[in-house]
Amino acid sequence: MVSEDYYELLGIPRGADEAAIKSAYRRLAKECHPDRHQGCREQEARFKAINEAYDVLKDPQKRAAYDRFGKAAFHNGGSGDPFGDAGFNGFSDIFSSIFGEFMDPRGAQQNAARGADLRYDLELTLEEAFTGVEKEITVNALATCGECDGRGCNGLDRCASACSTCGGMGKVRAQQGFFVVERGCPNCRGSGEVITDPCANCQGEGRALDKRTLAVKIPAGVDEGTRIRVGGEGEAGVRGAASGDLYLFVHMKRHPIYAREGTTLIADCPLSFTTAALGGSITLPGLDGHKIEIKIPAGVQSGEQLRHRGSGMTVLNGRGRGDLVARILVETPTKMSKAQKKLLEEFRATETGDECPAAKGFFSRVREKFA
Ligand SMILES: [Zn+2]
Ligand SMILES: [Zn+2]
Repeated sequence: MVSEDYYELLGIPRGADEAAIKSAYRRLAKECHPDRHQGCREQEARFKAINEAYDVLKDPQKRAAYDRFGKAAFHNGGSGDPFGDAGFNGFSDIFSSIFGEFMDPRGAQQNAARGADLRYDLELTLEEAFTGVEKEITVNALATCGECDGRGCNGLDRCASACSTCGGMGKVRAQQGFFVVERGCPNCRGSGEVITDPCANCQGEGRALDKRTLAVKIPAGVDEGTRIRVGGEGEAGVRGAASGDLYLFVHMKRHPIYAREGTTLIADCPLSFTTAALGGSITLPGLDGHKIEIKIPAGVQSGEQLRHRGSGMTVLNGRGRGDLVARILVETPTKMSKAQKKLLEEFRATETGDECPAAKGFFSRVREKFA
């Protein structure tokens, strides 16, 4: 028979905090998950009830309502399943939340001793990202203790003995409400042994804070947000357990000329109005060191994009390069000599309107409105 009371169901006192609720739920959901009890209706009902309880108790508002009114707080007219579909969304929901420890309980235990993963934010210039680069980075993190070589013992002898609290099992069982639950041993933190003569440098952990410098290779083509995993260079594990990984997060410095969209390099190029009208060419510095000449067709307009194929960014883990795009911004002169102004006025005197067809079309439509 499944208990009706949510707190009893989860085996926690009424004043339990969020963390206690969550950990109780995880333990129990794991214990009676239907995958472990093929077709057992009793376990399935219990599993469902536990999820229902957790759904209410994890939400402060629902919990407060439940504390005052009990399950009646959730009955709409008092019939049927109090939560309908909203309360329990099938197994996939739970699966995702406790996926890791669920799939491999032994893996979860090993993970407790594994070193944590580290994050390192690395800023690169566009040129560095273009060619790829080797960077020296300094990491300040828990590393294998040099005094005891990670064993945690003072001196060369083995100094671990079986933990008396859990008898070397690494787990203890405890009665919680209706259920017997198993959890990691608090004395040995799940390892099953205690260090009797700990190393003074690391207090038996087998790892201690250390500053180290390492060279990391950054491949060509990385971009803002690229993550690079350096296996085994994270925090050292407890007493020789596996190290975590180091993750480099790439950030891009601003470039004075180019913005970047994927493998495309984009340069906003202000262009004098005479060059825009008469045509010409501009030269841009390629990231590979070559000069890139871009022909400007006569009559180019603001906003036009002139593409130079294969002169853009390198492709990460791929071949070839993206394109380079010159985005034209025609610049109207703001400082002119008297002689230049005179020349322009002479030019205006010869204008028929056909020189700028867009302007001509627009203002003829305007005139129609005034007519
Ligand atoms: Zn040590
Ligand atoms: Zn123990």
